Amino acid sequence: MKKGSLFIVSAPSGTGKTTILQRLLAELPALRFSVSHTTRPPRPGEQQGKDYHFVDRRQFEVMRDDDTFLEWAEVHGNLYGTSRQAVEEVLAEGIDVILDIDVQGARQVASTTDAVSVFIVPPSREELRRRLTFRNTDSTETVNLRLQNAGKEMEAVAEYRHIIVNDSIEEAVEMFRAVVLATRSAGRRRFDGSAIDTGLCGVP
Ligand code: 5GP
Repeated sequence: MKKGSLFIVSAPSGTGKTTILQRLLAELPALRFSVSHTTRPPRPGEQQGKDYHFVDRRQFEVMRDDDTFLEWAEVHGNLYGTSRQAVEEVLAEGIDVILDIDVQGARQVASTTDAVSVFIVPPSREELRRRLTFRNTDSTETVNLRLQNAGKEMEAVAEYRHIIVNDSIEEAVEMFRAVVLATRSAGRRRFDGSAIDTGLCGVP
């Protein structure tokens, strides 16, 4: 069986990354989301083991020191990490895995794997401000802070292989689908992720 491919996606908050990922995962077969470990407390509606594996700082540090994580980082004061074993098990089943991780984690994964990286950006700074203001009851100060953070994160955009502008959710999902499918075809795999028997067509 052919191994699955690893995808990294990063985006500043307010770019619609979560919606795009949900749509992509619902639409494409043989694609799975990697559930990270975090010390951040769950937000309302988040489920243990589905959105994150919620752990305390001590548990996280033991795992980190045991080299459990493929990558880990501190983001906004909380620790986040990707379990190496969980990712490898899924890839070994021939299933593609998506890591939703920040720029620091993306750098670690890119340096040790051939992961395909995707950065999602908002159409403009003004549109990002509008979305952050619209979705939050946050003060102008908080919105400004988020905008400032987004600006910093966007400095890393050139390190990513693909950039997707989220002008419209439909188009952004379409672009992401194209990236996943092109990666499958480059890896001699079919739409559904299964391996192509190239011997049949005389192709090496
Ligand atoms: P949130 O707490 O809003 O779910 O995520 C905050 C940030 O942490 C996002 O940028 C998200 O991509 C990032 N993140 C989530 N899981 C991981 C992880 O396992 N590793 C790293 N490096 N970043 C993560």
